[in-house]
Amino acid sequence: MTHSEGFATRAIHAGQDFDPTTGAVIPPLYLTSTFVQESMGKLRGGYEYGRSGNPTRTALETQMAALDGARHAITFSSGLAAEDGFLRAVLRPGDHVVIGNDVYGGSYRLISKIFAPWGITHSVVDLGDAAAVAAAITPNTRILWIETPSNPLMAITDIAALAAVAHERNVLVLVDNTFATPALQQPLALGADVVAYSTTKYIGGHSDVIGGAIVLNDDALAEAVKFQQFAVGAISAPLEAWLTSRGIKTLPLRMRQHSINAQAIAEFLETRPEVERVYYPGLESHPGHELAKAQMSGFGGMLSVALHGGAEAAIAFAESTELFQLAESLGGVESLMNYPALMTHASVAGTELAVPDNVVRLSVGVEDVADLLADVERGLERMNARLAR
Ligand SMILES: *Cc1c(COP(=O)(O)O)cnc(C)c1O
Repeated sequence: MTHSEGFATRAIHAGQDFDPTTGAVIPPLYLTSTFVQESMGKLRGGYEYGRSGNPTRTALETQMAALDGARHAITFSSGLAAEDGFLRAVLRPGDHVVIGNDVYGGSYRLISKIFAPWGITHSVVDLGDAAAVAAAITPNTRILWIETPSNPLMAITDIAALAAVAHERNVLVLVDNTFATPALQQPLALGADVVAYSTTKYIGGHSDVIGGAIVLNDDALAEAVKFQQFAVGAISAPLEAWLTSRGIKTLPLRMRQHSINAQAIAEFLETRPEVERVYYPGLESHPGHELAKAQMSGFGGMLSVALHGGAEAAIAFAESTELFQLAESLGGVESLMNYPALMTHASVAGTELAVPDNVVRLSVGVEDVADLLADVERGLERMNARLAR
């Protein structure tokens, strides 16, 4: 398997060789904590103990590295564990991080609540403003933290432009690529140094696993992240790694259909009088549409909608659909509805990252689009009936 093969081929075959002892077409799930040594310190296949490595995890890491055309992928027990492992590998007391003003609330919480007491400072900036990003970088800045499309307002950031700004000042660029996935966006090819994933979302794709990954080319930094993981222990466990590998095989297919379905829902919502604004990069009305077209190969399955009628309308809508189920998380085959102000983004209420209280976020699944459209329409009608009471 080489990185020159097509994306779908890599998704199915990279790291996924058949088992040479039995011919099993699917690599086995190695539920084992330790590995018998041939003789003192002489390991079979390099495996010693499950915290340092497991063949099922290696299979996933080979597959994930191939998706981004990268040299290394390190998979963790969650997206936040991956982010934490990367941050700890890079940062020392006195260092500074520049972070977008519309990033995942948990990433902001990690930096502002967990790292701050250890002497790490941060600045929050609008990533759409390259001059503001340049101005926020200090001599102590080590990392520029980008998320595009952002969560939940789907802002599009110019990765190549900001990578140039950051690299001029010796700052590492991390892109949280959870929403787009490598199927739709390749941050390393655009100039980023590190890609972070919550594999819980589209990469796993079936809402049955929690996981994360750090993907990068730099050998020394990869070693440092691996050492952090080995020393701390937030590994992707074998069953989780196996489920994630299975999910990845249909990632290109799923992302294509998520994008088709989300485009239809976004266009429908834009026609409705109850709607103040639809946030979806596939819409021509979206300020990041042209940039998204250039930087991504599809617009993805996430969209947000701001409703006239404020928080009351947003909550009523979020509670009125049926196929779109009210739940945190995103990126599974089933459609989900989230009210950020009280759910995913409750932790950033009152900060610079607070989400408007009339916004509802939709994770558009891969059900029949006609059924999804009917569900959204019925949801708006039920919302109207509830508000009229
Ligand atoms: C969910 C999410 C995370 C955190 O991942 P977990 O797997 O929940 O720890 C980070 N970034 C984004 C964009 C996410 O959606």
